[in-house]
Amino acid sequence: MTLTTAFNFELIHTSSKSRARVGRITTPHGIIDTPNFVGVGTNGTLKALDNETVHEIGLQLMFCNTYHLLLQPGTQVVKEAGGLHKFINRSLPIITDSGGFQVFSLAYGSVADELKSKGTKKQDGHVLKINEEGVLFRSYRDGAKVLLTPETSIAAQKDLGADIIIPFDELPPYHIADLDLKKSLDRTHRWEERSLNAHLENPQQQAMYAVVHGGVHKELRQASCAFLTGLPFDGFAVGGSMGKTKPQMLEMLSFTMPLLPTDKPNHLLGIGDLESIEGCVPLGIDTFDSSYPTRAARHGILLTKSGPLKIMKSENARAFRPPEEDCPCPACRKFSLAYLHHLFKAREMTCMTLATIHNLHFMVDLMRRYRQKILSNEI
Ligand SMILES: [Zn+2]
Repeated sequence: MTLTTAFNFELIHTSSKSRARVGRITTPHGIIDTPNFVGVGTNGTLKALDNETVHEIGLQLMFCNTYHLLLQPGTQVVKEAGGLHKFINRSLPIITDSGGFQVFSLAYGSVADELKSKGTKKQDGHVLKINEEGVLFRSYRDGAKVLLTPETSIAAQKDLGADIIIPFDELPPYHIADLDLKKSLDRTHRWEERSLNAHLENPQQQAMYAVVHGGVHKELRQASCAFLTGLPFDGFAVGGSMGKTKPQMLEMLSFTMPLLPTDKPNHLLGIGDLESIEGCVPLGIDTFDSSYPTRAARHGILLTKSGPLKIMKSENARAFRPPEEDCPCPACRKFSLAYLHHLFKAREMTCMTLATIHNLHFMVDLMRRYRQKILSNEI
């Protein structure tokens, strides 16, 4: 049962060769064809691009981070502006997270074994307190104390008004004892249910995806799927630790994905490099968010059909040809690789914009090609 009527998922085709599927998510701000790539616009913008350009590229879903928007400019400011879509001038769908990931990343960082003292996390001075209510932390911007709970996270996401929102969860560190991981999972489930209840008091035409946790433990992933699929979430995201290697991640997802309902959309949180997408599409993942293509662009790497192209290589100094011959993007149609090479060498900001435009075009086209291959049962 889907309670949010403005939101809908239509399963168009499941491959005869794998669990790969083509679908269509309908939101109040338009359609998301799946599988698809989701660009990360942490502060309400994809780095180096304005949202008008992102629209022209055809990126159907954009991921914004509640944690960052909460601290700057503050979700109240966004609300007063008329919501996130209006504030950032994006008419297409947006998804926001709960802020939990960033807060717990601050708390645990690389000091993963510190969990045993959970409740009074103090390393690096940001997180002041973690208990059943939520997390109290200090803003890195102005030092103000901020309490993030399932209820305050959802209230913030209501102010932002994204099409898809995510419940507040606990992100356990990687090196956590099994018993503690089970306790963390139970708390995450209580927090997700509280988040859902807060959301359903005022749905605002938003959809909410649950976040499946359980780390690399199959029985915990199974328990997480069993608990969360029993609640009226609109879709399911897979989060938490995916293991240390890609084979571990694929094994965990191969186990977990069949435990999720096929009539609802799913999302893989924070993973969207080319190799992972290739491995995960056949497992039936619908959407991937990652800053990889935009970050690679800023580091002078163009994604092309023949592999990554390093703009700074000296051999490109006289490459008076498009960065990628058959690419229809404005960067490739209007500028040469030699010019991009020069801009990077001269450290002009324009080079990052042009490279980002190309890489996002590449991702949009890559996902379109994946959908075609699934429709013809090639994957
Ligand atoms: Zn291009």
